[in-house]
Amino acid sequence: MNKVVTRFAPSPTGYIHIGNVRSAIYPYLLARQNDGDFILRIEDTDRERYVDGATELIEDTLQWLGLEWDEGPEVGGDHGPYFQSERLGHYHEYIKKLLAAGRAYSDPTPPEVIEKYRKECSEKKIPFLYRNFRPEKLDFELHEGVPVRFLSEPKEYDWVDAVMGPMHAGPETQDDIILIKKDGFPTYNFAHIIDDTEMGVTHVMRGVEYLSSTPNYLALYDALGIKRPVLVSLPHILAPTGNKKLGKRDGAKSVTEYRNDGVLHEAMLNYLACLGWNDGTEQEIYTMEELIKKFSLEKIQKSGARYDETKLLWMNGQWIRRIFDNNGAEALYNRTAGFWPESADNYSEEYRLRVLSVIYDRLKTLSDLGSMTDYFFKDPEIDTDMLKSNKFLKKMSEAEIEDLLKITISTLSSVENWEPDSLQEALNWLLTETDKKPAELFSLIRIAVSFAPFSPALNLTLDVLGKSVTLARLNAVARSL
Ligand code: GLU
Repeated sequence: MNKVVTRFAPSPTGYIHIGNVRSAIYPYLLARQNDGDFILRIEDTDRERYVDGATELIEDTLQWLGLEWDEGPEVGGDHGPYFQSERLGHYHEYIKKLLAAGRAYSDPTPPEVIEKYRKECSEKKIPFLYRNFRPEKLDFELHEGVPVRFLSEPKEYDWVDAVMGPMHAGPETQDDIILIKKDGFPTYNFAHIIDDTEMGVTHVMRGVEYLSSTPNYLALYDALGIKRPVLVSLPHILAPTGNKKLGKRDGAKSVTEYRNDGVLHEAMLNYLACLGWNDGTEQEIYTMEELIKKFSLEKIQKSGARYDETKLLWMNGQWIRRIFDNNGAEALYNRTAGFWPESADNYSEEYRLRVLSVIYDRLKTLSDLGSMTDYFFKDPEIDTDMLKSNKFLKKMSEAEIEDLLKITISTLSSVENWEPDSLQEALNWLLTETDKKPAELFSLIRIAVSFAPFSPALNLTLDVLGKSVTLARLNAVARSL
């Protein structure tokens, strides 16, 4: 058996769509599972869409996700260069072979004329196939500034897609596609075939949007005498509703934005790997090692996979907990730099760790720290409306609230050992003494010390705040009534 070689071949256009990254994860998993190689190749032949810095962003994202490549930019390898713009000589070598064999021709037909052909077809309501308009006398020489087209010999094709199954295509699917553009750069259609071949890629894994062009690729493989790689079409990622592909406007952020919002790389990897693949069990949380072990082409689904941000954030919450519970508070804390509210600036690492320890199981993203922990670092503004409009406190008069605060203050003042268990005891005692329900009394205390929409368990919150801050805040609220 040949060594498995897979590749991720992004175009450096600046924005890393969720779907782009999934197209990197599957080939990575397949390569690792088979002790093969995973290649990163930058497809930068579309000079109009090229964005400066986009390659660095791609590399950085792959590294962040733990998808290290064996060959490609930065690491080199035996099949470089790994930027298509530096491989023009390779494409020209192959194009010369096709020209010499009479399977490609230079075509000076101006775009306006091609447009006219296209219009003619659309008026007649017939599909536009350039080969029906191909010049009568073909030119098999290469000329600067003149595009080169494939000379198609349309026929029936049968092939097997590792995900979509047995496929069939008729001659109408093949055309004289452009191989080399006017600017001398190859098209994707041509360049990827040459590169995959030269780089020894055994499995071409990419979005299903390339399936309809596959007959043209098969024709090229045949014309060049190249053995076909295994073709793997990855299902579309669908927008949260409807039947269309996920686009920028569907509320899905770029991978970079999720990362900046505090989505962990483990969660992003886990979520995307499971977007269109599952191992047939109910398991939802996978580590990289598990994914490498369990991944299989057979279990990639054929139908579109629906993008669900809520699920991604849920998974991120699971990962936040998992890291804290399995690897310890420090391990999670080390990921939180830049996510704390400004008010936390002057506090020690030790105190922040304590805050993290009581709040971590409520976080969906690390950026929640910004909004959810402010009151641990600075006295909240007293908002009496928030107190009075609370659904459990609404029924109480101001005097009653004041009384409850007073007895709370005196009870908590007498707690000597300020730690979660004694605090819970004191709170329980208060419940009996005041004959209030936990929802009523605890909501009052919680709001009075935090003025936040929610907070961790009350005894833990008070423990972290400390005795003097707790009492000062309760007193301030009592005075303001
Ligand atoms: N450069 C193509 C893209 O970014 C890659 C398609 C492929 O993987 O072959 O969509």
